Formats: sequence, structure tokens, C-alpha cells
Amino acid sequence: MLTYADNVISSLRFQYCPMCTSPLVREVIFDDNIPRVKCPVCGWIQLSSNVISVAVVARNEQGIAAIYPPGEAGVGLPAGLVEYGEDPAESAIREVFEETGLEVKIIDCLGWIFVNRTSWPGPMIQILYEAEIIGGHIKGSDEGAARIIPLAEFPAISPSRTGSRKAMQAFLAKIGG
Ligand SMILES: [Zn+2]
Repeated sequence: MLTYADNVISSLRFQYCPMCTSPLVREVIFDDNIPRVKCPVCGWIQLSSNVISVAVVARNEQGIAAIYPPGEAGVGLPAGLVEYGEDPAESAIREVFEETGLEVKIIDCLGWIFVNRTSWPGPMIQILYEAEIIGGHIKGSDEGAARIIPLAEFPAISPSRTGSRKAMQAFLAKIGG
């Protein structure tokens, strides 16, 4: 049985080749001297990547879009995973629409953070965006109710939502707040 480092999430602990079902092995394949999991029969190589996600400060003159995730002690910003093959800026626009019903255009990238998650979906790079609300009608989603809240009244962000917190900090630093 192949063993994995403690920080590898359970769904990436492959034992059998997903292409041909042969038992996998771990060996150095490239010049980087890093042992990698591969299939000795068909040559499939496991290359696990950090997950990419986005968090968005979506604003207009009324305030900033917040979501109210059920069961969390605080609000969140619209956020979510970047799909395979998707431009992160498009993900940001899509996530805001899915979670708030609002249409936005990207104004700025506020930076990125690395979150070393050891649970699904694993280590994550979160790209932080500022966007301007240009249309739509605010409504909630499975992620919770949605509201536009004036900056001065903006509630505390949920402790588990690192990306939302960092995005808001970066936005406040940018506007000198
Ligand atoms: Zn194979």
C-alpha cells in the first residue's frame, strides 16, 4: 500500500491507476529528484496541484455584497473554486452572480493568498478581486442570504473565511480605510 504525506487529502491518496487499475508505485521520474506516484504499466503520473479559488469584494455606491452562510459566525464575500480551464477573473464574475444575483465587472486584482488546507479540496491559492456591481438583482443562494451592506456597517467576516477576510483587508488598505 502506498503511504502519503500527512498533508495529502484523502481523495488524492490513489492506490490504483485511474486509467488501467494497476497498483501504483512511487519513484523519481524527473530531474527534480521528487518521488512521484506513477503507474508502472501505462505510465500515468499523478500530478496534484494546489486548488485555485477566488474571493470578491463586489461593490457599488450602496456598499459591498455580503453573503450570510447558515451556521457561520459572520458573513462572507462571494467566493468559490475556479473550474478546470476557467480564467479566475471569469470565476469571480460567475461566483458573484451565482451567490448574489449581481452582475459585476472586474476592477482590480487585490492580490492572492496561500491557504494550506489539509481537508478537501486541499491546499489552496485564493485570488482576491475587487469588482463593481453593474446590474442584476440581489438574491441569496444555497450559500445563504445575500445583501449589499454599507462599508461602515459591514459585519465581522466568518473566521473560517480566510479569503474573504484577506480580500476585505486588501480592499480597505487600497482605499485607505
Ligand atoms: Zn495505468
